[in-house]
Order: sequence, then structure tokens, then C-alpha cells
Amino acid sequence: MSPTIGVFALQGDVREHLRVLDAVGAHAMGVRRLGELEQCDGLVIPGGESTTMFKLARTFDLFEPIRQRVKEGMPVFGTCAGMIMLADRVEDGTADQETLGGLDITVRRNAFGRQVASFEGDLDFAGLDDPVHAIFIRAPWVEQAGPGVEVLARIDDDSAAGAAAGRIVAVRQGSLMATSFHPEVGGDDRIHRMFVDLVSSRCLTTGTDTD
Ligand code: GLN
Repeated sequence: MSPTIGVFALQGDVREHLRVLDAVGAHAMGVRRLGELEQCDGLVIPGGESTTMFKLARTFDLFEPIRQRVKEGMPVFGTCAGMIMLADRVEDGTADQETLGGLDITVRRNAFGRQVASFEGDLDFAGLDDPVHAIFIRAPWVEQAGPGVEVLARIDDDSAAGAAAGRIVAVRQGSLMATSFHPEVGGDDRIHRMFVDLVSSRCLTTGTDTD
């Protein structure tokens, strides 16, 4: 009973996600065209560059079909640029930037600033007993989250974190999950496992056959 989980593969950090999804028992496949999307029970949108990703998704006629699947309740997990792609609202985007939307959040692109563009740290994560070692690369944070959004992780609320203190960096709303950081890097597969469980439970409730 392994669900088929696609990784949006027109741009970004695809390979690591495929590897981790396979390792946690999903059937993972790259998605570059509609026929591939149609085979998927769930989708990962990787890190990369959100301002390029939406354009490629449009060029390859995947943008509207993915948006439609999101509306129909397909589970989607966005990491970093993928979080931006799932956000209903973006701060510091380009003037023409579009997102798929679905998560009632406002994200700020490159929020941690250029000086500290990449860093790592341990975060408590809802539903996991031990902290997650989170790797941030030119990451967004969640500036504002609507009432239906469950906060899964925040930056520690201590003054050493400066403007980042207490910022939301992982969320879930219904079938959609997103992290500002890169759980596919670093060998900790617990967040992917959580997503695969979400996809599997959704397949059971909708009666989708996952072989
Ligand atoms: N800054 C990138 C963007 O705006 C995201 C960086 C990443 O995915 N590692 O899309």
C-alpha cells in the first residue's frame, strides 16, 4: 500500500526529495508533465527559486492542473520555495509573481536577510518527540497565518534570534504542509514520513487504490 508521491521536477532540489520519499516507503516520481501529475496521490514542491518555478509551471502547463488538484484536496508538501508556491500571499516577491496558493499564510521571501542567508538549528516540531535539525537556505518565514493554519514549528523566541525570534517556519492546513527549511537534507526522514502518512490516510478516506 505505498502511495505514489510526485516531486515537482521542473526546477529545484528534486533528487533529495525522491531519495527520502523512496526511503520511507512511498513510490516517488518526478513530475514534469500532466500525465505524471495524474498518477500522483500527493506532491512535493521542493526548494529552488519560486520566481522561476511558477513560470516554468505555466510554460509546461502544470500550473492550473496542480492548482486544481490542490483545490480537490490532493496532499502537497512545500519546502522553502515550495512553501512560497503554496502561500496565498507573498511579501518581497517579484511584481509578476504568482503562487498556486491554498495555504492561508503570508510568507516573506528571503526573510532571514542576505547576511545570514543560510544557517541551521534545532527546532521543536509538533508531533515529533525530539527536535528537528533544520537547514535554512535563503528561506522564507511565515509572516502571518490564518485561523485554520496549524503551526508546526517556530524559531526559538529568544532575543539572540533578532527579528527571526518566534517566527513560524512550518505549518499545516488540511492536506497541505510546508516548511521554510529543507528536511530532505541531513538524514532525518521524520517529516517526510509524516507527509507520506498524510497521503496514505487521504487515499484511505477517498478510496484511492495505492497498490
Ligand atoms: N529564496 C528562494 C525563493 O524565493 C527560496 C530558496 C530555497 O528554496 N532554498 O524562491
